[in-house]
Amino acid sequence: MSPECIFVLDYYNDYISGELDLGKISRVEDHIKVCPNCEIFLGKASRIHGRTVGLLRIPAPKALKKSISSMFDKV
Ligand SMILES: [Zn+2]
Repeated sequence: MSPECIFVLDYYNDYISGELDLGKISRVEDHIKVCPNCEIFLGKASRIHGRTVGLLRIPAPKALKKSISSMFDKV
């Protein structure tokens, strides 16, 4: 594993989340052009991230919301 692979591992989450600065984005993208392992890894991590974010957007059932709200009312 090269230092650039380790760089991708260190920053892939910020890259996928869009929280990386332009210099680091270029470094990640330059590396995945020449490293199939990191390209595959980043693709899989990106799909998992997308699914996770999608799950967070599913609204909670009304009964659950009501139950949680009532718990806060008791505090
Ligand atoms: Zn790599």
